[in-house]
Amino acid sequence: MFLPQVVKSARVMKKSVAYLTPFLEEEKRRSGVVGKPAARILMATVKGDVHDIGKNIVGVVLACNNYDVVDLGVMVPTDKIIEAAKREKVDVIGLSGLITPSLDEMVHVAKEMQREKMTLPLLIGGATTSRLHTAVKIDPVYDGPVVYVLDASRSVPVASELISETTRDAFKAKVKEEYKALRADHESRKEGKNYIPLTEARTNKTKIDWSKTTYTKPNFLGRKEIIAYPLEEIRKYIDWTPFFQTWMLAGRYPGILKDSVVGIEATKLFNDANAMLDEIVREKSLQANGVIAFYPAQNTQDDVALFTDEKETSSFASFHFLRQQNKKAQNLPNFCLADFVSPDKGKDYIGMFAVTTGIGLEKLTAKHQANHDDYSDIMAKALADRLAEAFAECLHQKVRKEYWGYAKDEQLSNEALIDEKYAGIRPAPGYPACPDHTEKKLLFDLLQADKVGIQLTESYAMFPGAAVSGFYFSHPDSKYFGLGKIEKDQVLDYAKRKNMKVEEIERWLAPNLSYDA
Ligand code: SAH
Repeated sequence: MFLPQVVKSARVMKKSVAYLTPFLEEEKRRSGVVGKPAARILMATVKGDVHDIGKNIVGVVLACNNYDVVDLGVMVPTDKIIEAAKREKVDVIGLSGLITPSLDEMVHVAKEMQREKMTLPLLIGGATTSRLHTAVKIDPVYDGPVVYVLDASRSVPVASELISETTRDAFKAKVKEEYKALRADHESRKEGKNYIPLTEARTNKTKIDWSKTTYTKPNFLGRKEIIAYPLEEIRKYIDWTPFFQTWMLAGRYPGILKDSVVGIEATKLFNDANAMLDEIVREKSLQANGVIAFYPAQNTQDDVALFTDEKETSSFASFHFLRQQNKKAQNLPNFCLADFVSPDKGKDYIGMFAVTTGIGLEKLTAKHQANHDDYSDIMAKALADRLAEAFAECLHQKVRKEYWGYAKDEQLSNEALIDEKYAGIRPAPGYPACPDHTEKKLLFDLLQADKVGIQLTESYAMFPGAAVSGFYFSHPDSKYFGLGKIEKDQVLDYAKRKNMKVEEIERWLAPNLSYDA
């Protein structure tokens, strides 16, 4: 049996990540870590971002492979990262991020490392990052090695290549060469793409026959707080498939529990998760808070104007949305979320929500961290995240059946809810249909989300991290889509609508631009 040298990771291995053991040993042998003194790796989630679990798992995997992990936690500013790297004499820096603004922040860290004439390898990971972004935006600003790591399992061989004296120069040269080729390829591809002008995209909007639409007035207008919603109710709505992904086990629930390869470990994880959930529910160690709001609303091209009442005399604010601009096959519209709200005056409504199940999580994880129990620490965070999504699902159902009441007779199983078989959608700012995180400002102001314990960081990440927010659209034709890339004409138009500087919009929407800003 593989005996990790770091005590805390031993606990993890012992408890349930045993399925990683043979794999780790194999990686270890291949990468030649065995017998070498541990290298030090600094890990941090960049400023404005609260992403943690993925980074925690990378940390555990590295620790199991003799690495000494210095984890600076979340929302770490550049100067802290650089100062700690020097003080702790680390061999590698690993940055992680979940939301798009973090991409920019990582570029900033790399630039500062360059300015400080550092030569340490820089590892890039986390949901928002990609090999292409690393190659195009980060690699060119830092002369030291910069490597994108897809997941925790890759971090070990990559880190070991980067620190071994025999391999590091060749590895660095190889990756620099690879990224240069990626940049060239990216440049040449751009010409081939087909986009249409915004005006043309607008004439090809979603076709909805509003004269045939039945409108339902919500039970109330304005906001409503939901405090300490029962966790035993929320847990019924958990979608377990992403839970296993978090633990690097691939497969859909419930089939995964019987999977011939990972079934036994998946079942162990599932049982441990439910035991911890039992305790959380019993001790009320997490609190579920939410707030929802409804307003009369009217579509105004790509925006949704909000009103205090149905007379709709003057709008007090608007949500701004973006429209797909890629050339579509016949009969396919260029989607924009605003299309799902009626252009007719005094008819339609829009809803919005923010929920968290992260209240109390810090206290809970502090206990596990004090015990050096990484496994329970990660488990608690993973469960809080799952409960937040489940709360969003549960509340959305209450909204359809009761608060908005446009689908009073809906009868759907949890599987059907997970498959989004219901009428209407709850798109979240920062996600593919509405990638602009800055729209969360108005959303959170209207909801007064801080009153139920949910804040926004300077990058518009939600804090606590176990939180979900978004809009409610009720029209049965409304659907999720991905915005894709947009052209400069739309960016100029959008900047004007939002009264923001073009450069600022370009910074927030960098991954969605069809051109180099
Ligand atoms: N049941 C899953 C839900 C995953 S999708 C879970 O528990 O994790 C989570 C949420 O992301 C959706 O409810 C919606 O709010 C948002 N979402 C998904 N696709 C989206 C898109 N294309 N645009 C905007 N938001 C989206």
